[in-house]
Amino acid sequence: MLVEKGLVDPAALDALIDTYEHKVGPRNGARVVARAWVDPAYKRRLLADATSAIAELGYGGAQGEHMLALENTPQVHNLVVCTLCSCYPWSVLGLPPAWYKSAPYRSRAVIDPRGVLRDFGLEIAEDVEVRVWDSTAELRYLVLPERPAGAEEMSEDQLAALVTRDAMVGVAKVSPPA
Ligand code: FE
Repeated sequence: MLVEKGLVDPAALDALIDTYEHKVGPRNGARVVARAWVDPAYKRRLLADATSAIAELGYGGAQGEHMLALENTPQVHNLVVCTLCSCYPWSVLGLPPAWYKSAPYRSRAVIDPRGVLRDFGLEIAEDVEVRVWDSTAELRYLVLPERPAGAEEMSEDQLAALVTRDAMVGVAKVSPPA
């Protein structure tokens, strides 16, 4: 409708869609995670002010204006959802997958988070606290997964290649290197 009324240039829309479909994806977030794993000072900045720390690596803009990083530990597992719609940190993860936008995920993630994680193949031990975070238009989340065992000697680039989108939403852990 905006295009028909001449209020929006279709070329501008195409450029925006192309950017988030093809140029911005979860590799941005993976770079942030890998940096946090190898650089304790960066990790501290990320947990204190994620928006600024992410901007240090050149990522920001639409749907990433206000970010909070959530650290997974042996005691705490973080899971991100948007119960209202599909708010998602585009600047670090690209566009949300279809399941993230689905009604079952959005409702069950808050009612039965451990059950949802089990559906994703992730069993969280009873003595680990599961925290569910509801994204909004004002604040979006990036999960900082635990660095897997066996990855102690890997470079930052190699580590980034291990990090998956699902681990940064909190529906998976980062698997040890093969
Ligand atoms: Fe939303």
